[in-house]
Amino acid sequence: MGRFQPYHYGHESVINHIAEEVDEIVIGIGSAQLSHSPENPFTAGERVLMVTHAMEESVSLPFYVIPIEDIQRNALWVSHARSISPPFNEVYSSNPLVVRLFCEAGTEVISPPEMYKRDNYSGTEIRRRMLAGEDWRSLVPSVVADVIDEIDGVRRLHDVSGSD
Ligand code: NAD
Repeated sequence: MGRFQPYHYGHESVINHIAEEVDEIVIGIGSAQLSHSPENPFTAGERVLMVTHAMEESVSLPFYVIPIEDIQRNALWVSHARSISPPFNEVYSSNPLVVRLFCEAGTEVISPPEMYKRDNYSGTEIRRRMLAGEDWRSLVPSVVADVIDEIDGVRRLHDVSGSD
C-alpha cells in the first residue's frame, strides 16, 4: 500500500526487497480519489503509470497496480481494499494505521526493516523540492520523471499550491 505522490527510490527499494520473498505483487494505490492538491498532486491514473513503468524496469515478477479510494470508516477499510484487489496473503507496510488495521483483520503484516534514506526519499521532500526549484529528479526513477514532465506536473503542483 502506498500513496505514491510521487513514486520514488524509497518505494523501489522496498519493492525490490519484497520481490525476493513473494511470487506476485499487488500494489495498492491509496487515496485514489485525491489529486490536484499540494499533498496529493497526481491522479490515480498518473500514479498507476509511474508505478507500472518503474516496476517494468525493476521487477520481473507478475504485478498488479490497483487504485483504492479512501473511505470514512477505518474499521471497514481492509474489507474495502480486499473487495477491490486481487487476493493477497501478506501486506507490506510501515504505515502505522495500515499495519494496525490489517493486523486487527488477521492479515500477516510485514514491515520492511529500515527506511531507505527517508530524509530525502519521501514524497513530502520531493514535492518540497519541486516547489523550491531544487533537484528532485535524482530521487525518482527516470520513467517517473518522464510521466511528471508529460503532465506538466511541477507546474500543476505550483498552481494548486498557490494562493489567490
Ligand atoms: P506512502 O506512499 O507514503 O508509503 C508507501 C509505503 O512505502 C509505506 O509503507 C512507507 O513506509 C514506505 N516508504 C516510503 N518511503 C520509504 C523509504 N524512503 N524507505 C522505505 N520505505 C518507504 O503511502 P502510505 O501513507 O503508507 O499510504 C497508505 C494509504 O492507505 C493512504 O493512501 C491512506 O489514505 C490509505 N488508507 C486509507 C484508509 C481509509 O480509507 N480509511 C485507512 C488506512 C489507510
